[in-house]
Amino acid sequence: MDKLSDQDFRDRPNNIDATGQRKWINAKKPQGKWYLRRNIVGYILLTFLVIAPFLKVNGHPFMLLDILNRKFFLFGQMVFAEDTYILALVMAVTVVSIMLFTVVFGRVWCGWACPQTLFLELVYRKIEFLFEGNGRNSKRRRGPSDTSQIRTLVKHTIFILISIFFTNVFLMWFIGPQQLFEIVTEPVGMHLAGFSIMLALSGFYYWIYANFREQVCTLFCPYGRMQGVLLDNNSISVIYDYKRGEPRNSKVTEGGDCINCRQCVSVCPTGIDIRDGSQLECIHCADCIDECNLVMKKINKPYNLIRYDSVQGVENGKRKLLNARSVAYTAVLVLLMVILAFTVGKRTTIDVTLWRAQGTLYQQLDSETYSNIYQIMFLNKGNEPLELTLRLLNIPNGEVSIADGKVVLPPGGKMKEALIIKLKKRDLTGKETECKIGLFSGDELKETVTTNFLGP
Ligand code: SF4
Ligand code: SF4
Repeated sequence: MDKLSDQDFRDRPNNIDATGQRKWINAKKPQGKWYLRRNIVGYILLTFLVIAPFLKVNGHPFMLLDILNRKFFLFGQMVFAEDTYILALVMAVTVVSIMLFTVVFGRVWCGWACPQTLFLELVYRKIEFLFEGNGRNSKRRRGPSDTSQIRTLVKHTIFILISIFFTNVFLMWFIGPQQLFEIVTEPVGMHLAGFSIMLALSGFYYWIYANFREQVCTLFCPYGRMQGVLLDNNSISVIYDYKRGEPRNSKVTEGGDCINCRQCVSVCPTGIDIRDGSQLECIHCADCIDECNLVMKKINKPYNLIRYDSVQGVENGKRKLLNARSVAYTAVLVLLMVILAFTVGKRTTIDVTLWRAQGTLYQQLDSETYSNIYQIMFLNKGNEPLELTLRLLNIPNGEVSIADGKVVLPPGGKMKEALIIKLKKRDLTGKETECKIGLFSGDELKETVTTNFLGP
């Protein structure tokens, strides 16, 4: 086996050998308080992932990202393409939150909430432990090859079934449970495209977790690569207390507290040695903390040789969560959140777009009356049906009308109509006269829209 020297971790990832070939990581099963806590958080998140598409708020999906039909529901609220500025603000708040959280608490997202970690460590790896035992040298791995082949076959069959299941869950977030149910239950020919996408995604999903696995984090994930610029000496991360642990010595009574047993390495899902310092492959899962604590218990030494701490905490026992960077990120985050709250508060439930009919100026109806023709588009962004009438607000003698007389819109409904404004000659203020149109639901003014009326 290719064995890394003390310094080789600087040259190449731990899951790649000197010839560039992949080295399979068979991590040992973790046990301890952090693993238990991570399981609780992880299974709550996975449960949310599975049930969220079924939840409804006032009859509307709690979460739906229907890109094909441009229908989006977030927390039961309908969000339209016209609300992209709100989505952009939400994205900005999310990104700054992640940055702030990373500056203060390190990569807690990776170990505790990232879907890649949740699926690999809490679903697929557990099935592997069940069929192949605990770690590289488990009895089951070393057992007779005939039973190991059957175990492998059963394991991969379960992997495939789980991949199909989670792909369907994933699709439900985008098309909703009803449409997915139709794809699954009706003849394949009726939903060839949907069925093909489901199969292709399931295959990809299976390949990621059966084969590619931790390389998503160690080779591809851009977030891991940002750690070099986001973390500093005050950031909390999983860290080895080198002051207490060094010099390593296998004799418990000599040297530092680290007995060089490498149990922290054997349990690591990315195969690294945390004693080499902060590395981009470390997903901060805390498995090595639990494992080292088991060793410390056995050799009767204090716990937490590996722990959640900062470099400053290890160096001089001082932990400082607030520093210039965290304060600056907090200020930006607060500002963005205020803007977001203001924008959401100002969001109307009706969206109206009015534009002049192509190629028209004005029409003279009689010696006193002129008209202009427009196109108007209504969008009901609320959760209730709307019935609207139109009135000209600033010119009492003027008239505004649409072909159907009134606007009736279901929740999320759109309507495009021709709109005519008629004004008397005496009301014209020049070649362009400003017209304010009010949209009323009963006597309640819901929205106003302004345009120019062209005259002679
Ligand atoms: S588990 Fe603890 S004692 Fe063993 S090598 Fe790792 S840090 Fe040292
Ligand atoms: S070094 Fe520790 S915290 Fe980092 S990935 Fe490995 S086991 Fe998890």
